[in-house]
Amino acid sequence: MSSNLAETKKTILCRGERFRLYLDRDTIQQRVRALGEAISRDYEGKRPILIGVLNGAFMFLADLMRAIDIDCEVDFLKLSSYGASKISSGVVHELKKIDADLAGRHVLIVEDIVDTGLSMAFIIRKVQEEGPASVRTVTLLHKEEATRDEVPLDYVGFRIPNLFVIGYGLDYGQLGRNLPDLYILDDAA
Ligand code: 5GP
Repeated sequence: MSSNLAETKKTILCRGERFRLYLDRDTIQQRVRALGEAISRDYEGKRPILIGVLNGAFMFLADLMRAIDIDCEVDFLKLSSYGASKISSGVVHELKKIDADLAGRHVLIVEDIVDTGLSMAFIIRKVQEEGPASVRTVTLLHKEEATRDEVPLDYVGFRIPNLFVIGYGLDYGQLGRNLPDLYILDDAA
C-alpha cells in the first residue's frame, strides 16, 4: 500500500538526543481502535463530550474520535507544557479554558500521557467544579512508576517505563510531534 507518511525509522535524533522506536504506527492504531470500541460500548445512548488536552493530545484525540461510532462532541483545554525540558516543572497553569458548558454532561478527558499525574488531577478538579453528570479519563500512555498521586484512569492505551517519549503528538521543545510513531529516549546512548 502506498503512503505519503515518512517511513518508520528505528532510531532518530531530536534536538541532538537519540531516541529509539518504541511503538510503531500500526500498534498505536490498533490500540486506539480498541479504546474507541470500548468507549462506544460504555457510552451507548449518552453523547459524551471529549475534552482534549492541548497540545500533546491532538493527534490521539483525532484518531480516537474517528474510532468512536456513537454521537460525541469535542472541546479543548490547554495547560502549560514542559517548555524545552524533559522534566515536569511540577506546576500546572491553565492557558486556555474549556468553552463548553459541562453541567449535566458525560465528560471524557483525553490526555496523551500521564506522568506525575498532576495535570490529570488538576483537570479532573476543574471539570468537577462544572457539575458534570460523569467524569472519566482516557490516556494513550501511562508512566505508572512516575505517578505520585492517585488519579483515576478509566482507559489506558499503554503502560510505559519512566522515560521521555516523543512522536504522535508528543514533543521535545515543540519538535517531534509530527512523527507517526512513538520514540523513547535511548537511555543506553
Ligand atoms: P504530568 O502532569 O502527569 O506530570 O504530565 C503530563 C504532561 O506532561 C503531559 O500532558 C505532557 O504534556 C507532558 N509529558 C509527560 N511525560 C512526557 C514525555 O515522556 N514526553 C513528552 N513529550 N511529554 C511528556
